Amino acid sequence: MKNTMSRRIESIHADEILDSRGNPTVRVTVALKDGSHGTASVPSGASTGSHEAWELRDGDARRFGGKGVRKAVRHVEQELAEVVVGMDAGKQQQIDARMCVADGTVNKRRLGANAILGVSLAVAHAHARSKKVPLYRSLRQTFGIPEEAFRLPIPTMNVLNGGAHAGWVCDIQEAMVVPRQRTFAARVRAGAEVFQALKHILSERHLSTLVGDEGGFAVAFPRPEDAFGYLIDAIEEAGYEPGEEVGIAADVAASEFYDADSKLYQWKGEKKNLTADQMVARMGRWVKQYPFVSIEDGLAEDDWEGWASLTSVLGERMTLVGDDLFVTNKLRLQQGIDTKVGNAILIKVNQIGTLSETMETIALAQAAGYKVSISHRSGETADTTIADLAVAVNADFLKSGSLSRSERVEKYNRVMEIEEELNK
Ligand code: PGA
Ligand code: ZN
Repeated sequence: MKNTMSRRIESIHADEILDSRGNPTVRVTVALKDGSHGTASVPSGASTGSHEAWELRDGDARRFGGKGVRKAVRHVEQELAEVVVGMDAGKQQQIDARMCVADGTVNKRRLGANAILGVSLAVAHAHARSKKVPLYRSLRQTFGIPEEAFRLPIPTMNVLNGGAHAGWVCDIQEAMVVPRQRTFAARVRAGAEVFQALKHILSERHLSTLVGDEGGFAVAFPRPEDAFGYLIDAIEEAGYEPGEEVGIAADVAASEFYDADSKLYQWKGEKKNLTADQMVARMGRWVKQYPFVSIEDGLAEDDWEGWASLTSVLGERMTLVGDDLFVTNKLRLQQGIDTKVGNAILIKVNQIGTLSETMETIALAQAAGYKVSISHRSGETADTTIADLAVAVNADFLKSGSLSRSERVEKYNRVMEIEEELNK
């Protein structure tokens, strides 16, 4: 057993780097006394929920249109370093709690969730390195999850990009394929083959094969049902059975086109406004007609009433995922559990801002029987922490975008690497 003194944090360094959209983000490296290092980069959303933890940006219009993160970088190297240098890297929960106290606000507005999360994740990586175990195992040890019974996630792969990720070519943000083969590698292969088949079908029908922020094709579909039809065609052309072998999923991201004053969902493609009840009826028709596995953010982030009716109508048959609704926040999730809203949660580490709080929310979800989907953001980096996180918690789903663009496929590649390791 190594002397824990040597696992003390010696120094912290932060940089302003670029994410996959060319916007600045924070990268943090933590060095321990024993010479181990851990590095993590922070992702960034575009269709962000209004209840998310605070992403601190400089607001100086002369640099990166105000999106610089020099303040966050400074907070890491000064205030946060002061708090955590000298602490044992194995005490993740204490480190995260002390950073939250240092920030002093409910949503990390003062120091920035991007600053705090960068440190939190880099500490986890450094600690794993120091113990010489892969991150997914180290996370199980840190958070008291037994080190047997690994179950790899089902990927939900966003092959058609719309909404805020693709110049609003389509009202729903994401149409996904969900391969359910026995091994993770076979799921990735099926997803990639369907992606290529979809490209072939789109180009034959003279539709765009340019990709959006998450690597899926950005096609102008006036109705989401058209997008689902194309997914079915692509699954069949790739030689798979729709449903049985490859299902489909959607992220409606309905907060993005909800008008809170009129309480109407404003579909731009069809130029029509729907009430929550009409939205629920429409999703009911999707579920009847197509082999749906899950629907995310079918209604808006504060439409609790609509969500309750969505859940009572479709909850038995369908995984209903709350993203903007729950924002990885255990208080919002608890409200959902208490009022029978949704039956699954999307987990995005930067929505809440520390690894420990993320783990608490996941544990609450699992204890309540909610499914867990670990997710990237539309602005990503080469960081693959979420792949290890998904394996560490036996997540039901991993959502990392399409089968193109390295910042997306690196997460799938990492789970395949873990699968090989577990099979040794
Ligand atoms: P975001 O999109 O990262 O832009 O929020 C992802 C999602 O809504 O699931
Ligand atoms: Zn979403």
